[in-house]
Amino acid sequence: MATGKINVSVDNIFPLIKKFLYSDHEIFLRELISNATDATLKLKHITSIGEAQIEFDNPMIEVKVDKKGKKLHIIDQGIGMTEEEVKKYINEIAFSGAEEFLNKYEDSAKDSGIIGHFGLGFYSAFMVAQKVEILTKSYQDAPAVHWTCDGSPNFSLKKGKKENRGTEIILHIADDSKEFLEENRIRELLRKYNKFMPIPIKFGTKTETLPKPEGAKESDPAPTKEVDNIINNPNPAWTKQPADLKDEDYKEFYRELYPMQFEEPLFHIHLNVDYPFNLTGILYFPKLTNDLNIQKDRIQLYQNQVFVTDNVEGIVPEFLTMLRGVIDSPDIPLNVSRSYLQADGAVKKIASYITRKVADKLTSLFKNNREDFEKKWNDIKIVIEYGMLSEDKFFEKADKFALYPTVDGQYFTFEELQEKIKALQTDKNDKLVILYASDKEAQHSYIEAAQAKGYEVLLMDSPIIAHLMQKLETSKDKISFARVDADHLDKLIQKDDTQISKLSDEEKDRLKADLEAVVKDKGYTIQLEPMDSSASPFIITEPEFMRRMKDMQRTGGGGMFGMGNMPDMYNLIVNTNHELVGEILNTKTEKKRERLINQSIDLARLSKGLLKGEELTNFIKRSYEMVK
Ligand code: ADP
Repeated sequence: MATGKINVSVDNIFPLIKKFLYSDHEIFLRELISNATDATLKLKHITSIGEAQIEFDNPMIEVKVDKKGKKLHIIDQGIGMTEEEVKKYINEIAFSGAEEFLNKYEDSAKDSGIIGHFGLGFYSAFMVAQKVEILTKSYQDAPAVHWTCDGSPNFSLKKGKKENRGTEIILHIADDSKEFLEENRIRELLRKYNKFMPIPIKFGTKTETLPKPEGAKESDPAPTKEVDNIINNPNPAWTKQPADLKDEDYKEFYRELYPMQFEEPLFHIHLNVDYPFNLTGILYFPKLTNDLNIQKDRIQLYQNQVFVTDNVEGIVPEFLTMLRGVIDSPDIPLNVSRSYLQADGAVKKIASYITRKVADKLTSLFKNNREDFEKKWNDIKIVIEYGMLSEDKFFEKADKFALYPTVDGQYFTFEELQEKIKALQTDKNDKLVILYASDKEAQHSYIEAAQAKGYEVLLMDSPIIAHLMQKLETSKDKISFARVDADHLDKLIQKDDTQISKLSDEEKDRLKADLEAVVKDKGYTIQLEPMDSSASPFIITEPEFMRRMKDMQRTGGGGMFGMGNMPDMYNLIVNTNHELVGEILNTKTEKKRERLINQSIDLARLSKGLLKGEELTNFIKRSYEMVK
């Protein structure tokens, strides 16, 4: 038997590990299973190149909880270690790694944005164990070794009793870590971190029902059998070639990833690169609602099939964090802060690769089956619009497939839209005026009025649409957006100057004075327009600019915060060719005239959805009075 002192300059490394990594104790299991996996894969490899002749029947890793004995066992059938190897790999390498880690961690601990998932390795066992034993037998013909260490830098090493090749790690769980003696807790950890690791992991057994033997009676119970309970799927879909997978396989894998999710994904993107960085994965477009907040952080990050985190901020471009799925890349540094991560060259490349792949997939969906793409548009638009806003590269590509639906359910690309409306919807300065509604119901009368003039009206109802319009207006030539109830009316209407006012100048002045006298305190700007006599007599509009600023203020972003509350501003447009307006002008009694004006303006406000509460109640009362 040999004893010795592990050669570390930090006198007692284990309390330090514990203290520093308090919140992350649970990762010890992931680390030990990773080691067991590596050991098994190494053995497979040297067998495959003929350096070892080993009979393999489906090697697995076993995890066992011994609650009574306060022990946790992790057993593999891998390469094992000789005495020399234990001395070298465990006493020297593992522990020098520990020291290095601590030094590094002490520095970076100041940065609170640290990812908190490290390749801690073997010594992370001491976060939860007061004593650790290794029982190992190398695949080479050498005696088994038994190593013990109680958490001080002192270890003992002696010949072990172990017949089978492989390594067993025994953790004597410390009193403050008893949770790791609960089967449920261990099962939870195995599912979280090891669900897709490449070597089968056994945790207990389960009862399997077998088919009834021939001739069995209806009432006979089906025979059962105890079988190994394998916790993981060693061959997850993302590790396979896209050519070997059918649509159903991708859906199946989605269900495996999100068992609680009943909605099917809309489509998937299989990622697969090995140069200049290594990355595989599958991303899914889920059906998204218009709520930006609740859906983030569903993408899981793996390294060589080991779960690392489901917070991919800084790795995946912000707008794609609304997607779901898996990314597996050994090239993402994990023991660094988020801010460092974002500046990292490899990570930047990864982010732009993912963005490009997503854009390419969308392009091909659009080209290959436009009808289907249109059907899905409402569920995917939020990601695309967000991407167009935040990533210029994505904007360039998405500009060709982003759709602009009309209120009647037609879909145009931007180019098609321009072509469609250019004959009718230009203003004095040759600028295209793109009309849109944000709410079909609330803006119904305005939509109808615009359509009556032959204008195309889009339906733009995403929460961030105001920002996107702003972006389109600045990045494209000579276009502007105006909501149907905005002050575009005067701009476009003046184009068809076939309408001549029936009123004389004197009448116009008088009308204006009468109106102003009634609405004086209500903040309306009165505008007289000669329009078709069938158009509404009174229309309330809101300057596009002001309304949009308010919208953007509400949805945030663009430096819009803290601008204070902006005042409401409305235009009252009066159709001087309407019969009712003529009647108002000809009413001699002041009281009667005032009543007519008030009633008409209230109707216009009702149409814009501005009449509420007490004013609405009074309006209804007054109307009953008038009709009775
Ligand atoms: P890393 O796994 O990052 O190399 P560790 O501290 O986890 O660092 O382990 C150090 C070394 O100990 C490993 O590289 C490996 O050679 C050896 N080792 C650890 N666990 C096992 C195991 N279960 N079977 C065989 N060798 C192991």
